[in-house]
Amino acid sequence: MSRRRQIYEGKAKILYEGPEPGTIIQYFKDDATAFNAEKRGTINGKGVINNRISEHVFLRLAHIGIPTHFIRRLNMREQLVRQVEIIPLEVVVRNIAAGSIAKRFGIEEGEQLPHTIIEYYLKSDELGDPLISEEHIACFNWATHEEMQDMAAMAIRVNDFMCGMFAAIDIKLVDFKLEFGRIFDGDFSRVILADEISPDNCRLWDFNTGEKLDKDRFRRDLGGEEEAYQEVAKRLGLLQDDENGPGEVVDMSAHRSRLRPSTPAKPNPAKPKK
Ligand code: UDP
Repeated sequence: MSRRRQIYEGKAKILYEGPEPGTIIQYFKDDATAFNAEKRGTINGKGVINNRISEHVFLRLAHIGIPTHFIRRLNMREQLVRQVEIIPLEVVVRNIAAGSIAKRFGIEEGEQLPHTIIEYYLKSDELGDPLISEEHIACFNWATHEEMQDMAAMAIRVNDFMCGMFAAIDIKLVDFKLEFGRIFDGDFSRVILADEISPDNCRLWDFNTGEKLDKDRFRRDLGGEEEAYQEVAKRLGLLQDDENGPGEVVDMSAHRSRLRPSTPAKPNPAKPKK
């Protein structure tokens, strides 16, 4: 690992220079943080499971035509992804009230929202990721109007797909966070899904018991984080289990498919012409 150049170390991942230009290696750590990194800890084996769950979800999203940064999983903790220019937004999709929306508006956690909501937060640790409006995004040129339309459309498709995927394994998709990035082709750019999708950035509740199978176990000191992450992987068919307890993460590399861009590149007004 030492021969590779580290580009960035985040809270849950490390990024290394990839083998080819335009690629990056994402390394998934076991570190967990919450409340803007005020609370820190580790969840044993989280990196291995999130790497696998994120691969599973991104591959399936690619199959329904959502462009993602995912290229292929390299090993238990690493995946090769396309290098993108990260759009400095956290796009949160909510189906059921929980967390900050429940607190902000005094809604009881677990209440089904009348319809799905998309919220935008500015990705800024210093500012504590403030909630922002589309007006702010346009005003400060964090994303163009067209990029906003693309992100919102993709977020809704991801939500519909994942609601079904999790419902099939008796899990309610309460809410989740997405990040997007730009890839450039000359003066043209295109928005693709980046980062990861895992129990770190989704709220997942057991359909029957309401048990939390996500990072809220860590945020709220509920315990059983490792088991909760394993349970999600197990229900998705990614973890082999036997009577001695949870087993190996299943290697599905035989079923890998490559990302095929699905939408044509569009001019990017935010990028100056040469
Ligand atoms: N989320 C995330 N990273 C963040 C903030 C939120 O992945 O920095 C996810 C979180 O896991 C949840 C959804 O976005 O699935 C909505 O989170 P919320 O705004 O309720 O924030 P919280 O309650 O975590 O403060």
